[in-house]
Amino acid sequence: MLDIPGFTPVTPTADIRVARHGNRAKCLQRLIRMDLPVPQTVAIPFATVREIAEGQMPDLATLIGLFEGEPMLLSVRSSSEAADWGGPNAVLNIGMNDAAHGWLSKTLGHAAADKLYLRFIRSFAIEVMRLDEEPFDAAKTPSEACIIYEEEIDDPFPQSIADQLAAVLRSMARAWDGTSARLLRQAKGAPGDAGLGLVVQRMAQGMGPGQSGSGVVQFVNPATGEPKVTGRYMGQAMGRRDLRNSDKAIYLTRDERGPSLEDLLPEVYGELLKVGARCRKRLREEMQVEFTIDQGRLAVLDAVRCPREARASVAIAAALARDGIIPRSEALLRVSPDTLSRLLHRQVDPGAERVVLARGIAASPGAAAGRIVFDSAAAQAAQSRDEACILVRRETSPDDVRGMHAADAVLTERGGTTSHAAVIARGLGLPCVTGAIGLHVSHKKRRVILADGRVLREGDEITIDGSTGEVMEGRVATTEPALNGAFGDLMAWSDDVRDIGIRVNADTVADATLSRTFGVDGIGLCRTEHMFFESGRLTVMREMIFAETGADRAAALDRLLPMQRDDFTALFSLMSGLPVCIRLLDPPLHEFLPNETDGIRSLAEALDRPLSEVKARIESMQEYNPMLGMRGVRLGIALPEIYEMQARAIFEATVAALAKGVDVRPEIMIPLVTARREVELVKRRLDGVAAKVRDETGVDFDYDLGVMVETPRAALRAGEIAEQAAFLSFGTNDLTQMTYGLSRDDAGRFMSAYVNEGVYPEDPFGTLDVEGVGELLLLGASRGRKANPKVILGLCGEHGGNPESIAFCRFAGFDYVSCSPFRVPVAKLAAAQATILAAKKAD
Ligand code: PEP
Ligand code: MG
Repeated sequence: MLDIPGFTPVTPTADIRVARHGNRAKCLQRLIRMDLPVPQTVAIPFATVREIAEGQMPDLATLIGLFEGEPMLLSVRSSSEAADWGGPNAVLNIGMNDAAHGWLSKTLGHAAADKLYLRFIRSFAIEVMRLDEEPFDAAKTPSEACIIYEEEIDDPFPQSIADQLAAVLRSMARAWDGTSARLLRQAKGAPGDAGLGLVVQRMAQGMGPGQSGSGVVQFVNPATGEPKVTGRYMGQAMGRRDLRNSDKAIYLTRDERGPSLEDLLPEVYGELLKVGARCRKRLREEMQVEFTIDQGRLAVLDAVRCPREARASVAIAAALARDGIIPRSEALLRVSPDTLSRLLHRQVDPGAERVVLARGIAASPGAAAGRIVFDSAAAQAAQSRDEACILVRRETSPDDVRGMHAADAVLTERGGTTSHAAVIARGLGLPCVTGAIGLHVSHKKRRVILADGRVLREGDEITIDGSTGEVMEGRVATTEPALNGAFGDLMAWSDDVRDIGIRVNADTVADATLSRTFGVDGIGLCRTEHMFFESGRLTVMREMIFAETGADRAAALDRLLPMQRDDFTALFSLMSGLPVCIRLLDPPLHEFLPNETDGIRSLAEALDRPLSEVKARIESMQEYNPMLGMRGVRLGIALPEIYEMQARAIFEATVAALAKGVDVRPEIMIPLVTARREVELVKRRLDGVAAKVRDETGVDFDYDLGVMVETPRAALRAGEIAEQAAFLSFGTNDLTQMTYGLSRDDAGRFMSAYVNEGVYPEDPFGTLDVEGVGELLLLGASRGRKANPKVILGLCGEHGGNPESIAFCRFAGFDYVSCSPFRVPVAKLAAAQATILAAKKAD
C-alpha cells in the first residue's frame, strides 16, 4: 500500500475512511472493490484540504505522477462526510493546455478539442479564478479565451497541470470555508468543524470518435421506489451539467418517444444494468450512477444514494429488506417517522408554486385547499355542495366540531399544538394550522385581515399546509397519500420489534375503526366529552347543565345514558380483546354552552326559556380560569350524578357486549386528579354503581380504575395515588401546561419567538420537555411503581405521537403511549426505532 503524506490513491486495500476522506471517496473505493471500471482516483483527506485552504499545498508533482494516460486530464470532486452536506462544484478537464489541445485535435478532431479547451478555460477563469463571466461570452476559440484571460488577470493562462490543479484545489478548499456554504451544511446537521475531502480522478472522455458520451442512471422510480431504469445519456457530453442543460439527451431504456442507449449500445446498456444490481447488493442501497462511455467503453465515475421522495424511500427500504440485502431492523431505521407521516397525508406538491400569506403552528399534518368558511353551518353547506372548504376561526370550541367534520382543513388565529382545534383535527386526520401569527379573524364581518393588511373573505380560496404551518394563497396542487405494500411491511416489522405498546386516542367508532386498520394495542384515551358534541346530544347535554334541581338533572342524564351506552357497546365490540380506556367527563361544563347570540337563541328555544335568563345563566357559569376551575374530577365530586351516569353506561355496555361474546374488561380513568381522596371518593361511587348493575343484570364483570396524572401534584403524590389505581396515565398536555404555567390555548402567540430566541429548544406541547416535565414523569413512574409494583404506566397526551417523546417513555419503562389515530403508524415506527437503537447501544 502506498503511503504518501497528504493524499491516498484509492485502491481496494487503501485506508480510506468516511470520517477522514469523506463519503464520495469511500463510495468510490467500494466501487473499485467491486471491480467496476472506475478511472484511477486519489483521495485528499480533510486535514490536507484544511492545509491547502491555509496556503500549504501537498506534493502535487507526486500526486500527478500517480496518474497515467495521454493527455493527462483530471477532475476534482468534493467528498464531504455526509453526502447532503454539499461541497463546491466539480471541476473537469484539469490539464487542458495547448499541448493537450494539439494531441486531442489529432485523436478527437479539431471541433471536439476546441470545445473541450474553450470550456475548460471558461470554467477555470470563472469558477476557480472568480473572474466575471461576461467577457468570456464573446470568446469563440480557445486562443480568444486565453487572450481575455490574460487581459483580465495580467498573467497568461497557466499551461502547467500542476499550476492548474493547485489553483483548483485552493479554490475548492476555500469555498468550503465560505459563510453561506457553512450555514447551508449546518442547516443539514453538519458540525461547525465539518471537514471537506477531495477526490482527484483521471478523466474518462465522453467526447471523441465512435460512441462517446455521459449519462446518469438509477434503477428505481424516484417517486415510487418501484424498479425502473431512469436517467439520461448524451453523446459527446461530459458531466452532469451537460445533461441538465441539453435537449439532446436520449433515453436509457428503449422508448417510443425517441432514441435510447439500449438501441444504440445494447451491450453497454446491459453492463449498466449489471452495475446497478451489483451496487444495490454490495452498497446495500439504491444508487444513482454517473457514467461515461469512452469510445464504446463504460467508465463508472461516481455513485451517490439515489434521490427519492417519501413514498420511494419507504418502498426502497422495504424492498432491500425483503430481498435479504439489509436486515429488517435496518430498513426500519432508514425510514424517518417524518417521512412516514408524509405518506399518510395529502402533501403540497413539491413542484407547486406557493405564495405564503401567513405562518402558524403546524398543528396537524397534511395539506388541503378550499374556500374559506367561518362557521359550522357554512362548512356543512359547502360539504353538501361537494365543495372543499377551510374552516377559519379565532379559536375552536365544541360548537365547531360539526364544522370540522365537514371541512377539509382548519385554520385558527389562536392556539397551539394542544389547543382544541389541534387535538380534534389530529383525531380527524384534518390538516390544521393554529396560532397563525398576525392574522385577525372577524367572525362577525366574515373576513380575515392578514399581517400586511390584506383582507380575505368568505369564499376566497386558500391552501393549508399543516405539516409546515403555512397558509397559502389560492388552490395549490397537492399529492395524494400513498399506503402501499411497503407501508404494511414496515408496520408489521415494527410490531415484531417494538417493546412498548401503542394505543390510540379514539372517541368514536369511526376513530376506532380507522385505528384498527393501522393495528393498535387498544384505546388509551376515549375522551367522553367528544361523544356529546353531535347536535342531537349537545342539546340534551345543555339541558343537563342547565338543570337547577337534582330531579331535572337526573332526567337529562337518563336521556344521555342510552346514548353513551350505545357508544360504549359499539367501541367494546369493535375492540374486542383489546383494552379500552374511557375517561370520565373532563372539560368545564360551560364549554358545552354556546357563546354567540344565534346559538344562545336556539338554546333558549330548545329549553323554552327567555333569552335573558339563558344569557344570565351562561354568564354565571363563566370562570376566571376555566382550565384550573370546575373541571375533571372536581365535576365528579361536586356533581356526582354525571360520573355515576357514565359509569352505569360503561357497565351496562360491558354486560351487553359480554352477552354478544365480546371479550371486554373496561378501564375507567379519572381526569385532573390532585389528591388520593378524590380517587377514593370516585372509586367508592363507581364500585357502588358496578355492584348495582351486577345485581340488576345477574352478570359478573370486572373493571380497572385508573388515574390521569396531569397535575404536578398528582405526579409528586403518585405513590399514594397508585395504591388506589390499576393504572396511571400521564396526561402530558395538562401536565406541560401546569408545569410551565403556560396556557396550551395561548402559547401559540409567543411560542415561535421563544423557540427562535432559544428560550425553549422546541415547543414543549409538541415534543416532551424531558428535563422538566420528564422529571415529573420519572418521579411519578418510580413512586407509583414502588407503591404498586403492578401498576400499568401509560402516556396519553399529544406527545404520544412524537418520536422523541416515545423514546423517552420507553426509557422511563412505560407500558404504552397513546396517540391520535393518524399518528399510530408513526408512533409504531418510532417505538421500533427506539427499541432497535437501545439494543444497539447495549451491544
Ligand atoms: C392531557 O392533558 O394530556 C390529556 C390527554 O387530556 P386532554 O388533552 O383531554 O386535556
Ligand atoms: Mg388533560
